[in-house]
Amino acid sequence: MPDRLYGSCLCGQFRWTAEGAPDFQGFCHCDHCRRLSGAGRTPFLGFEAGRVRLEGQTASYADTAQNGGSIARHFCPSCGGRAYAIPGSAPGVRIFYAGTLGAPERFRPDFAIHAASAVEWDPAEPALPAYPGAGPD
Ligand SMILES: [Zn+2]
Ligand SMILES: [Zn+2]
Repeated sequence: MPDRLYGSCLCGQFRWTAEGAPDFQGFCHCDHCRRLSGAGRTPFLGFEAGRVRLEGQTASYADTAQNGGSIARHFCPSCGGRAYAIPGSAPGVRIFYAGTLGAPERFRPDFAIHAASAVEWDPAEPALPAYPGAGPD
């Protein structure tokens, strides 16, 4: 039986479903994730777009990520909840947020990125590989 993950925004107007395990999942400590979430970090999961189904309306914000790349950040126009993001460098990827999962306990973070931007009150997990910037490179 294939694995499936699903999630929704706060009001439920936007829903996502993804088949199979995430291609990557971790925490982002970048300044933009901090401002968007109001928290020290954002827990995220990435999938190939072909394994993802989206329902409902979103609005989007064309952001320039902390590493200088473009990223389209979609959110629910009704409740303002984060919906998903599409990195300009990887337009075939859809990034979702662990807090929107229908079963949030299924999030299994593997790493932390932008750990150099972590705030003192929410440091990177000591048990996970932590990259100072956008990734291992
Ligand atoms: Zn909503
Ligand atoms: Zn971030």
